[in-house]
Amino acid sequence: MAGGHGHDSHGHAETATATPPIPEGAFLAPGNTEMTWVEKLYLPEIMKGLGNTFTHLFHKTFTVDYDGTQRDDPRKFHIPREGYRGEHYLKKDEAGHVKCVACFMCAAACPAECIHIEAEAVPADWQDRERYPKRFEIDLLRCIYCGMCEEACPVDAIALSTTYNVVADQREAKVYNREKLLHRGEELGISLTKHHYRPDGIPGHVPEKKAGGH
Ligand code: SF4
Ligand code: SF4
Repeated sequence: MAGGHGHDSHGHAETATATPPIPEGAFLAPGNTEMTWVEKLYLPEIMKGLGNTFTHLFHKTFTVDYDGTQRDDPRKFHIPREGYRGEHYLKKDEAGHVKCVACFMCAAACPAECIHIEAEAVPADWQDRERYPKRFEIDLLRCIYCGMCEEACPVDAIALSTTYNVVADQREAKVYNREKLLHRGEELGISLTKHHYRPDGIPGHVPEKKAGGH
């Protein structure tokens, strides 16, 4: 028994475990589902809904520049939430070479198995490493944006950006190769300096500028 006093099938007295009473009104009691005649008309609720829609007709529209095409309007800067993980990019080192050393750590860490790397010996004038990625591809349609590749990389060569615009009209376009990833690194390396993470994540806010620039 769930509660109260009683005897089980073996005749032992049950311990008194008081079940808290269900608060009145927590569930609709049978027979308590009848609507009033005003509710049955539905009209008041419909009018309320229409009124709400109508007031929005006169609100000025404001679209956040989520894809970064309106950089001249700081009011519309898209400010992603801290920790947002968008599409990847590859970084370059000071010499302008791809930073990746083709260690395969990111591919090994990737739970979606969407990173494909082919390593090759570096040209003779690259003194800082033995290998670099001849081929580096990420299939973003398989990626789950977990960020494990970024975590696993020992040389900080790969990172996830904060871009929101991930639209493509062909599946092949979402397989990013080394050149594309490096190019995005150059693009985003500039745009990322403009990102100001806000703990409250309210988009459209113009971040306060610190004295002396960003
Ligand atoms: S974010 Fe996760 S799923 Fe996507 S490539 Fe990196 S490790 Fe793989
Ligand atoms: S991106 Fe980093 S973890 Fe991945 S292969 Fe290159 S160096 Fe290794």
